[in-house]
Amino acid sequence: MKQLFHPSLYRFDQAQPSYWEATAGETELRNETLDGTQSCDVAIIGGGYTGLSAALHLARDFNVDACLLEAGHIGWGASGRNGGFCTMGMTKLSLQSQLKKFGVEQTRAFHQSQADAVNLVRALGEDEAIDFLPQGDCEFIVADSDAHFAGMQREVDIERSLLGLDVSLHSRDEFREIGYDSPHQHGAVAHRPSFALHPLRYAQGLAAAAQRRGARIHPRSEVISWRKEGDSHLLETASGSLSAKQVILTGNGFMPEHLHRGVRGRPLPLQSAIVVTRPMSADELREKGWHTENPTINSKHMFFYYRLLSDGRFMLGGRANHIGDPAGAEATYAELKQSIANMWPQFADIEYTHQWRGLVCFALNFRPSIGRMPEDKSVYFAYGYHGNGVNSATWSGRELARWLAGRESGKSILPNHLPALVRGRSPRFPLAAMRRQYLRLGLGFYRLRDYFDW
Ligand SMILES: Cc1cc2nc3c(=O)[nH]c(=O)nc-3n(C[C@H](O)[C@H](O)[C@H](O)COP(=O)(O)OP(=O)(O)OC[C@H]3O[C@@H](n4cnc5c(N)ncnc54)[C@H](O)[C@@H]3O)c2cc1C
Repeated sequence: MKQLFHPSLYRFDQAQPSYWEATAGETELRNETLDGTQSCDVAIIGGGYTGLSAALHLARDFNVDACLLEAGHIGWGASGRNGGFCTMGMTKLSLQSQLKKFGVEQTRAFHQSQADAVNLVRALGEDEAIDFLPQGDCEFIVADSDAHFAGMQREVDIERSLLGLDVSLHSRDEFREIGYDSPHQHGAVAHRPSFALHPLRYAQGLAAAAQRRGARIHPRSEVISWRKEGDSHLLETASGSLSAKQVILTGNGFMPEHLHRGVRGRPLPLQSAIVVTRPMSADELREKGWHTENPTINSKHMFFYYRLLSDGRFMLGGRANHIGDPAGAEATYAELKQSIANMWPQFADIEYTHQWRGLVCFALNFRPSIGRMPEDKSVYFAYGYHGNGVNSATWSGRELARWLAGRESGKSILPNHLPALVRGRSPRFPLAAMRRQYLRLGLGFYRLRDYFDW
């Protein structure tokens, strides 16, 4: 099957050389590949947060017989290699567009669900004893210019008064004391209840919890074919087959589009890459003027995301090219390191220890997709978190579990209680094989906008 990006991005048998893989620690997870002929009520394709959360909630809250198939190891995809920002924002629609398209009530419901999703991750960490090393108590968005800070001031007013969000604004002088200083620091806004975590420990912890609660979790079990026999779905892997009454299809940036025509040509995978420095002591960090472990992004269109890790390393991530080849990745890592030196000259000579990359998922309508295939009501899906899946994918997996189990205890019936912004399936891209070319144009366009501050 021809994938969209360079084949090096789809080696299910290889882990990325990430800091997270190096520090994942022990896991109680049993690594059993699907073997022989099996059956279940709900089959789940993909062992990232969406699939794992669906499996855990189905088994734990609804006693549903769920079985998850993952092509690599658990967390092989974006869920095991992201920046660990448990923050809000799974859409790229501007706040103005959200309000215009969905109205105040639905926009508020969406933002509230994003805060709930952050709290859900914290609660899962506590309830399921997942040692995901939480850090910080908010996300900072740092203004790259005075004009950006003025825009933030206007948005913060709306976020507080119309949407009821917990946000605070900090002038450049204030942020120098609680965050850092840089020629690119012009004040910041803080969003609560966001925080940071160890993403792979979180994925493995979700999988172990799901297994404890009775879900079957099978890593190294790539679904290579999917067909329907009567009312049953038949999923085949190299060493076994699984029949199920219902299927949850996940995959996000690694969506196996060849398996179901209902998702073909709809996701827009996009590369994100990360570099990590050697550890720094508390004294060294103080000397360098760094005072926060809160996850932070800057306000550019092609923004960087950065944070301190629990052992004093500095991590920074940003977008990579539209090809996905190893040589392009090396160039991206060099650019990210140069950007660090430009933004924080005090880090210019620091040594780096880890670098890796993966795929996030955008969509033509710039919003996430949660729903059920119109072509086959026994197939559910969730994807398109726009680079913000730690909370969003966890929440989406739980919502799918509730919907599927049909035991929503609230007044309204799923999926209508989902905020309108996340409901349904994103449109198919015209000439979908051209998606990487659209991406190339899009990345160029946003770089230009950043250059002219527009
Ligand atoms: C470098 C990077 C940094 C990021 N930083 C952040 C961040 O800081 N905060 C944040 O909120 N989000 C971040 N994201 C995005 C976030 O990680 C994703 O949105 C989220 O993990 C998506 O979860 P998922 O379960 O839907 O997909 P994934 O975690 O990508 O999992 C999909 C899984 O499907 C499996 N699969 C594919 N085909 C098959 C098949 N045929 N059979 C079986 N399994 C299959 C894949 O192996 C994969 O493991 C980042 C992503 C990347 C790549």
